[in-house]
Amino acid sequence: MATVERSATETHEVFNQPAPLGDYNVFEADRPLREAVRREGAEWAEERIAAVGALAGSVRARELGALANENPPRLRTHDRFGHRVDEVEFHPAWDELLGEAVGHELHSAPWKDPRPGAHVARGAAFACMGQAEAGIGCPISMTYSVIPALRTQPDLAAEWEPRFLSDRYDPANRPAPEKPGALAGMGMTEKQGGTDVRANTTLARPVNGGGPGAEYELTGHKWFMSAPMCDAFLVLAQADGGISCFLFPRWTPDGERNRFRLQRLKDKLGNRSNASSEIEFDSASAWLVGEEGAGVRTIIEMVNHTRLDCVLGGSAGMRAGVVGALHHTAQRSVFGENLIDQPLMRNVLADLSVESEAATISAMRLARAYDEALAGDAEAQSFKRVANAVLKYWICKRAPVHAVESLECLGGNGFVEESGMPRLFRESPLNSIWEGSGNVQCLDVLRAMVKSPDSVEAFFAEVLEGAGAEPRLDGYVAALREQIPGDIETIQARARSVIERMALALQASLLVRYGDPATADAFCASRLAGDWGNAFGTLPAGTDFGRIIERHQPAS
Ligand SMILES: Cc1cc2nc3c(=O)[nH]c(=O)nc-3n(C[C@H](O)[C@H](O)[C@H](O)COP(=O)(O)OP(=O)(O)OC[C@H]3O[C@@H](n4cnc5c(N)ncnc54)[C@H](O)[C@@H]3O)c2cc1C
Repeated sequence: MATVERSATETHEVFNQPAPLGDYNVFEADRPLREAVRREGAEWAEERIAAVGALAGSVRARELGALANENPPRLRTHDRFGHRVDEVEFHPAWDELLGEAVGHELHSAPWKDPRPGAHVARGAAFACMGQAEAGIGCPISMTYSVIPALRTQPDLAAEWEPRFLSDRYDPANRPAPEKPGALAGMGMTEKQGGTDVRANTTLARPVNGGGPGAEYELTGHKWFMSAPMCDAFLVLAQADGGISCFLFPRWTPDGERNRFRLQRLKDKLGNRSNASSEIEFDSASAWLVGEEGAGVRTIIEMVNHTRLDCVLGGSAGMRAGVVGALHHTAQRSVFGENLIDQPLMRNVLADLSVESEAATISAMRLARAYDEALAGDAEAQSFKRVANAVLKYWICKRAPVHAVESLECLGGNGFVEESGMPRLFRESPLNSIWEGSGNVQCLDVLRAMVKSPDSVEAFFAEVLEGAGAEPRLDGYVAALREQIPGDIETIQARARSVIERMALALQASLLVRYGDPATADAFCASRLAGDWGNAFGTLPAGTDFGRIIERHQPAS
């Protein structure tokens, strides 16, 4: 019998596996995002966003992201002598990525230089960075968002704002005055309620009479408090005057460790590079932000901005999914032809791209509303009020299904960690849960319908900017308006359906006006006119698949 002589390296030849993605610029490769940045007033920031895009698309950043997830943070409650230390140890990859994000001022730029388009510019850069690693987005977003809430208490803002706006990241566990910069977190959710923060039981006792800016002692707990190595947190607690907002620093002003205990870190589905803790306050020092009893009103200033980041994060995840799917299918041949050239796969890829473009341009339109509202534009403020909740609901709901379909484009490789797709998938439900889960966003829109109907009108005024250009949109909007409020008895039960349609109407209007014509046509045919199935890849056969796919190629 003949013997086949082969060394271990000669068992087979590897072929028909895609080349690694390599370094690419996440921003420059994303046409819808580039166009949106110009359209929404941040052309001046292109160079800065492109610098973040180059970083986020580098092999190095992707490797750091993977490392930070493979080596999740660990809680150290005590030192070797038994003293409480309550520290979280992160992998150096986390610190490096977070340091880069802070260095690029993703947590601060619009507050430092509040010119028109500042929140658009920062939003685009934030979306780019999230494609390298989403976990660091949590402390970045909270620090960005803390500023407007903190400014309701000018003396505390004067002390803390310069620290939060610094572009230097120092992971050391030291009092903030000794550090070159600081990061902020947020503690609202308790065991008995996250949505219903009025059920908070943490007690706040004034130390010296109390009042805005004064010191209190907090006793109680938080069930979720993410990024617990931040230097200070806005937390809610019950004072005599009702639920109130406090600034709780990790260290007291006299340089002592504040009186808190990190009890556990959550073992989470995704977002594993980031730590989310359970914490207890034991007469911890904290300072009242705003009036007693105004806690929800105060902290909502922060939540309003983290909600924008949930929208941006959802759209960033979709873009990452599209890039992964297009890259793989362009190089993988099945039955003798590249997948990207096969009609059924083209439908899937185009459909994923359509969803991603709709998310990107609506997220960036929303970011412009932040710029305008902060500059005092009342109409923009009204639009933002409703559009934020509508888009947080819909884009974050679409993200997990989008991720799972993007993953499947890679076949079995997509199920394997090295592809990055499992991480994308595990992360994808989170933006829908925190900062007000799906139903909460819907209820928020219903509340706006009752309490500020002008904001619903502002929303539809924006949608109707696309009127007359696309009959399918006109018909869809007319039918939708009949539903609002429609039968008032059933409005809560119908809320998801109504808010979904509001999101689709806004996205269609923006696509019709500013998107690629093939994308807009596919969106209207499928999402508005109903020529669509229940899974991605069911666009009408006459869709210009080639044009849509070409537009979303990371290489173009
Ligand atoms: C990874 C992670 C990190 C987090 N980090 C933080 C943090 O740093 N700080 C912080 O404060 N919190 C944090 N959270 C908590 C998060 O904000 C809450 O989990 C979220 O707000 C939901 O609150 P809950 O878990 O108490 O759920 P519940 O309030 O019990 O809600 C459960 C479900 O019921 C729905 N629901 C609520 N009310 C209604 C209603 N009236 N009608 C219909 N449906 C309703 C909600 O939409 C939700 O789907 C984090 C959560 C996660 C998963």
